[in-house]
Amino acid sequence: MRQKIVAGNWKMNMNFQDGLALADSVISGVDQPKGLVILGTPYIHLAAVSERVKSHPAVFLASQNCHQEEKGAYTGEISVAMLQSVGVDYVILGHSERRQYFQEDNALLARKVDAVLAAGMRPIFCCGEPLEIREDESHVDFVEKQLKEGLFHLSPDAFSKVVIAYEPIWAIGTGRTASADQAQAMHAAIRKMLADNYGEEPANNTSILYGGSCNAQNAAELFACPDVDGGLIGGASLKPTDFLTIIAAMG
Ligand code: PEP
Repeated sequence: MRQKIVAGNWKMNMNFQDGLALADSVISGVDQPKGLVILGTPYIHLAAVSERVKSHPAVFLASQNCHQEEKGAYTGEISVAMLQSVGVDYVILGHSERRQYFQEDNALLARKVDAVLAAGMRPIFCCGEPLEIREDESHVDFVEKQLKEGLFHLSPDAFSKVVIAYEPIWAIGTGRTASADQAQAMHAAIRKMLADNYGEEPANNTSILYGGSCNAQNAAELFACPDVDGGLIGGASLKPTDFLTIIAAMG
């Protein structure tokens, strides 16, 4: 059966020292979570946070990006082998900020997904629609295209390693959360897409996280939805007390 997961996405926040202090506060505050906890740190924190997450069996490490090529003359980039060598477990891919500001499209993301899986790590593949698509009610088709082009080339075995995060863009960092009904409806639609492509069992075994202004106040209601298996948390993952409350909401 699928796992519950709460993953933090620190984005481009926290200097090295503050990041380590944040990781320490979270790791020492996590008791016996009802699922996995993942810290998505900037690149420079990964090696040091990796040492810290080893002290807790339920806490894992994510990078927020990777390069699709194995190695070579790509100045400023980070390969999957580098991430794997410092103990990264998950790689967040396809975040709407990467799609918007760095022109990452589904074809590129499919290559990144392949690279992450080939290195033995697991992708957290983000999908989600902008406001105008939600308003004209074509959000299900929009997300289906993202999944088809970014993920559905995978074999069933490779697909079993994937975590999906549904993040409506209009809810990210805006304080405007999707309602529990909106989240549940979209997650159920995504699970049906997975069932149509891979079958009922793989669909039921895939963790689908909600992201978009999820916080200490609304996490429990969102996570209680039958197809919401936890959250990808931006702003609230920078505040240890709030993040720990969200982690507890998995219970
Ligand atoms: C995110 O960036 O993945 C996110 C969900 O951000 P926030 O929680 O701040 O809306």
